[in-house]
Amino acid sequence: MFKIAKEFSFDMAHMLDGHDGKCQNLHGHTYKLQVEVAGELFADGAKRGMVMDYSDLKAVVKTHILDQMDHAFIYDLHSEKECKVAQLLIDLDSKVYGIPTRTTAEEMAKYMFEKLEKVGLPVSLIRLWETPTSYCEYTK
Ligand SMILES: [Zn+2]
Repeated sequence: MFKIAKEFSFDMAHMLDGHDGKCQNLHGHTYKLQVEVAGELFADGAKRGMVMDYSDLKAVVKTHILDQMDHAFIYDLHSEKECKVAQLLIDLDSKVYGIPTRTTAEEMAKYMFEKLEKVGLPVSLIRLWETPTSYCEYTK
């Protein structure tokens, strides 16, 4: 089996409601995202010798992750406090994106994995860097 990966970068604001430190405050990160897909090689046609065309991988991640999350306030749909902030931003025509979990690197990596899997990408691993020295890896 072959594994190929592509890296992306995006900016995002969030807060961790209930955190016992500075992460409870609204702040942002430049995230690095690595999406790995696994499979065998195409035997013929335009994609012969490839697991997947890197440009196709890029397009899927752009459509299903980056277009929604880049430069958005990402918030936990279950947090009343975070929903209040999101509502204010919505009223101000600012970009928001709600997910049904806390917006830790761990939960977001899992969310992205499952979202990409659902649209048919043969994703095998997600690595999400919240800072240049901190990342989470999610795989099944
Ligand atoms: Zn943070």
